[in-house]
Amino acid sequence: MTPELVIKNLHVQVDGKEILKGIDLTINQGEIHAVMGPNGSGKSTLANTLAGNPKYVVTEGEILYKGENIAAWKPDERARKGIFLAFQYPLAIPGVTVANFLRTALNAKRRETGTNGDAQAISIPEFRKLMTQKMQLLKLDPTFATRYLNDGFSGGEKKRVEILQMAVLNPELAVLDETDSGLDIDALRIVSEGVNAVAGPNIGILLITHYQRILNYIKPHFVHVMISGKFALSGGPDLALQLEEKGYDWIKEDDAVGK
Ligand code: ADP
Ligand code: MG
Repeated sequence: MTPELVIKNLHVQVDGKEILKGIDLTINQGEIHAVMGPNGSGKSTLANTLAGNPKYVVTEGEILYKGENIAAWKPDERARKGIFLAFQYPLAIPGVTVANFLRTALNAKRRETGTNGDAQAISIPEFRKLMTQKMQLLKLDPTFATRYLNDGFSGGEKKRVEILQMAVLNPELAVLDETDSGLDIDALRIVSEGVNAVAGPNIGILLITHYQRILNYIKPHFVHVMISGKFALSGGPDLALQLEEKGYDWIKEDDAVGK
């Protein structure tokens, strides 16, 4: 089966400065990959590059989504084709309610990827049912549906609404950038349950995190450690526990010794 995502020798510049210096990564359907690493190592740069943010310039290498090179795809096209990005700092969209935003996004995705019956716009009652079900999953008060997106939301509410988007859109590739940051333990558990409910054999997940904590709730199949724009080390879930215990400095040292 064609992998969900293949990244080959990816080099990325921001404002003329090289941040990613040769990333290789393959994510197959059903796999959860965690990317960990110190602040400033390039984790969000990878997320922004996958999102198609024009500030992030690919200077070398390629990104294949389901075997297709996505270099020329604009951010909205990537989203419609099933790539979902949850950002470290979600933006507020005053004047657009959560429900309207989600219905518009869902319909755009269905038009793009839908086969047969699924290609139709979702009916209002059907959409309401879907929203209610997913909002319950994320323990969001029903009033959230009619509130303006992220406008005045607390940090934890923003993150839960991000995962609500993911649950409603049902993407094939989800990139979650520090979805755990700023969450207390209860919110972290709710958000993780939401992610676990969406996880499954048809989705690849890239979970970016500075801390090991969220990996107690969401079990990755693979862990990659980003240091200075490269994966210095990759391994299984045990690697996250090792990092929890020893921090990141020992990898930097080993990396320097190897040069
Ligand atoms: P992480 O998410 O691992 O903390 P980032 O990808 O945010 O790391 O940042 C990696 C490096 O790229 C940092 O040195 C940061 O200053 C730089 N960088 C990231 N985004 C931008 C930007 N929009 N403009 C300028 N520099 C940036
Ligand atoms: Mg970051």
